[in-house]
Amino acid sequence: MDVRFLCDCNLGKLAKWLRILGYDTLWDRGDAGQGFLRNAGREGRIALTRKRNLGGGGSVRLIVVRTDRVEGQIGEILEALSMKPDPKERLTLCLRCNAILEAVTKEEAEGAVPAYVYQNSTYFRKCPICGRIYWPGTHARNVEELLRMRIPTRPL
Ligand SMILES: [Zn+2]
Repeated sequence: MDVRFLCDCNLGKLAKWLRILGYDTLWDRGDAGQGFLRNAGREGRIALTRKRNLGGGGSVRLIVVRTDRVEGQIGEILEALSMKPDPKERLTLCLRCNAILEAVTKEEAEGAVPAYVYQNSTYFRKCPICGRIYWPGTHARNVEELLRMRIPTRPL
């Protein structure tokens, strides 16, 4: 997907959920200030912050997240950008590294995933950086729940 994000230090959980939805998202651990905005600008990312006093963001698109809970935060962002996550993009990025997952064969996943997962899944993906293996169903139920809580009347 084209839209990319940079989360400030207070939005680590949101960063993880944006990755689950398939959005290229980096997490800036430094104090959210001008350096944070510069980093976002340099990489053409939308800056997400909880700080209300960062200013307008200059040429950088800045969204000030107002709610505390991650479900509400996702909703705020999707609404601010009029975006609808593509279910096909879900779990295409490593939640830890933000790297694009690569398909691996069932044989390669053997021993790396729980036995019941190995037996019941045919499709596996692997992070090229940390080696973590994902399979359909990883976080799937959580994602559905999160999106349902977001806007109960508007299914995605
Ligand atoms: Zn990884």
